[in-house]
Amino acid sequence: MSEGKSDTGTARVSGTTRVVGILGEPINHTLSPRMHNAAFAELGLDYVYVPFRATKQTLREAIKSIRTMGVVGFNVTVPFKEDCLRLLERTSDTARAIGAVNTIYLSDGRLVGENTDAPGFHQALLAHGFRPRGKRVLVIGAGGSARAVVHSLVATGAADIVIANRTAAKARKLARQLGGEAANIRTADLEILDDFDFLATRQLVVNSTSVGLGGGAFLDYDADSTPDDCVHFDLAYAEGPTPFLKLAEKAERPTIDGRHMLVHQGALAFKLFTGRKAPVEVMAKAIGIASR
Ligand code: NDP
Repeated sequence: MSEGKSDTGTARVSGTTRVVGILGEPINHTLSPRMHNAAFAELGLDYVYVPFRATKQTLREAIKSIRTMGVVGFNVTVPFKEDCLRLLERTSDTARAIGAVNTIYLSDGRLVGENTDAPGFHQALLAHGFRPRGKRVLVIGAGGSARAVVHSLVATGAADIVIANRTAAKARKLARQLGGEAANIRTADLEILDDFDFLATRQLVVNSTSVGLGGGAFLDYDADSTPDDCVHFDLAYAEGPTPFLKLAEKAERPTIDGRHMLVHQGALAFKLFTGRKAPVEVMAKAIGIASR
């Protein structure tokens, strides 16, 4: 065992240990501490990554702890990604375009907000050999994570993006804010999920809802209607295949597990927190997937 590593993959805490955190509510389910602590241990860094339960009322104070308590930075998860935008001193172009922040760190004395979800999504696609340029995509859902996905798909040149959401008005708002028809974005209702003619045109289907994770079934979606090589990417993740990925696997379509996006967005945040290149393989292994 080398200096700075422990046999559990958890960093040793001492008087010099620096703290990185994740802010969310609920936060019990997060895999980020496992992933980042394994990375700190691997590189022998004297850091520890811990979950913090915040509330809408305490969020501002929690962020200030970067100054008041020397916290290195935070990842941000549901439901604070949008709220953080207005609480920071600088935000990246990507974070502003998406309208959400998932990483906060100090740069030149200023509290900076970044969004690594969009590039994390893109890197997970590339790692599975999928290039969005010129592709026809279906995005199911229009919440916070769909914003990062659609932003990434537009930025990387997808030819046709259809957003299907239960609440049609939210899909329309998202499409409009991210460029509408000029950016090749259209919207549809959930009935399109079993429309053979439409599904037969898709090359990538992204689920950005968490439907089925609580134990129920996924939506009425016909994976068999998609082309044989249509890639199915589920942002939602669990210890094993999610209900959406099970449908795709049953239809023998290629799949991407949401933990791959988690690793890549985490690796980008790790670099912002520590200045060091993240050990992606170690981070992936810590959350139960093989690195790609
Ligand atoms: P939001 O709450 O912002 O959005 C939820 C979406 O799911 C909305 O489009 C909502 O539709 C839809 N939805 C919820 N319940 C139903 C239902 N019963 N039937 C149909 N649609 C439904 O969540 P996020 O976008 O932030 O997160 C979604 C998932 O993505 C979560 O599981 C999260 O953990 C995961 N995620 C994974 C990441 C990764 O790195 N892998 C990164 C970010 C998120 P409506 O608008 O009608 O309410």
